[in-house]
Amino acid sequence: MSTLSESSPLRVDLELVKKYNVPGPRYTSYPPATRFAEETPKELLLKKILENNETRRPLSLYFHLPFCQSLCWFCGCTTVITTKQEASHGYLDILDKELAWMGKHLNPERKVVQLHFGGGTPTFLLPDEIRYLGRMIRDRFALDSKLEASVEIDPRWLTQDHITALGEAGFNRASLGVQDHNPEVQKAVHRIQPYEQTKAAIDWIRAAGFKSLNIDLIYGLPLQTPASFEKTIEDILLLNPDRFAVFNYAHVPWIKPAQKSLKEEKRPNAEVKLEMLKLTIEKLTGAGFDYIGMDHFARNEDELTVAQRNKTLQRNFQGYSTCGDADIYGFGMSSISQTPDIYWQNLKELPAYTSALNAGQWPVAKGYVLTKDDKVRRQTIMRLMCDLSFDYAQLSNEMGLDFPGYFKRELESLSDMEADGLIQRDAGKLEVTEIGRLLIRNIAMRFDAYVEGEQERRYSKTI
Ligand code: SF4
Repeated sequence: MSTLSESSPLRVDLELVKKYNVPGPRYTSYPPATRFAEETPKELLLKKILENNETRRPLSLYFHLPFCQSLCWFCGCTTVITTKQEASHGYLDILDKELAWMGKHLNPERKVVQLHFGGGTPTFLLPDEIRYLGRMIRDRFALDSKLEASVEIDPRWLTQDHITALGEAGFNRASLGVQDHNPEVQKAVHRIQPYEQTKAAIDWIRAAGFKSLNIDLIYGLPLQTPASFEKTIEDILLLNPDRFAVFNYAHVPWIKPAQKSLKEEKRPNAEVKLEMLKLTIEKLTGAGFDYIGMDHFARNEDELTVAQRNKTLQRNFQGYSTCGDADIYGFGMSSISQTPDIYWQNLKELPAYTSALNAGQWPVAKGYVLTKDDKVRRQTIMRLMCDLSFDYAQLSNEMGLDFPGYFKRELESLSDMEADGLIQRDAGKLEVTEIGRLLIRNIAMRFDAYVEGEQERRYSKTI
């Protein structure tokens, strides 16, 4: 097993781990989804959607396909666990109703530049159902010729025809769930996925000519050690993916009861988790990947890497993205949508979501209208999570305000982080150090107007 040398820029002492290992949002949105409220008037949300349509900004479409054959005990997604294949057929009918409902409010001339199938397991759908959904989308929207279409894939019940169908539906990017490749860890989290299954899926994806292949891994699972996780990374590197997303396991058993099976004494502690993250960074950057934002890795010529270099990288509900000027319209139970002014989220339970659409209603559950201050903080936190630096003059210019004056209190509050080596700064700029990057959520929390007093029992821990 590799260990970090005394001189490694990623060495973190235990005191820092203790100080900064607190619950905090992941900032895939600001304010985080925990702020969305049922009380937000639907009429107001709809008025904002109609105004948004006047802009004719490009669209990014998200489809939540919630079904999974079996529950992975670490899972934090909104899922419906079933072995009844016919469930997906009925769901497509309901999705069609939602598309028709929202279609009445969407300008058909808006170009779709991004499409994402997430879940759940999108490949729970039969290949012909994937083809059908692809046609439903093409019939209703104007897809851009440079469409980025990505899909989350679970190799375990996959056939080559699923991949063929995804290719026919226009998908050109795939993200494969692996999480951990060690058989003991897989058993402990109730997700058995032999290496051969992962390899077969990758071979089919490559043969179908997909442009990009991402692998999802998770650190912090039971029985994982730095050595076992390093082996997982080495094995997956042999399969030559284009990107990695390496997520910190989010332990939130009060929201996801199945996580109670993942006992604390079996899981690596915060210090070991940090060690795993540091090893991951050294291993993947050593293998030619660039470290993107807080949890992604991509090849030097990858569009994510280019966007990070050009400071145009974006963070949204699907992680990091290059499509900054597109509005996200989500379809399916629990999906979240986002325009510059509002967020809204669909009903999270399948029966309620289905009933609403069968009754001809908008299946929205919650919403949020951003204030001017929210927008300033959203942009600030987004730039921090993507660029890992602030150029005060540039941000002042972009946001039309005096950035250091607006955030005087927040910037002053960072003195301890500066002393701890998380940031470096001078009169005109702030830069996050290599150590600070491991704790980027903690730095972002200083710019969050809502997080104080809300952390416990809402968010997972930052390390
Ligand atoms: S991790 Fe993926 S496959 Fe497993 S239950 Fe969650 S959504 Fe389904």
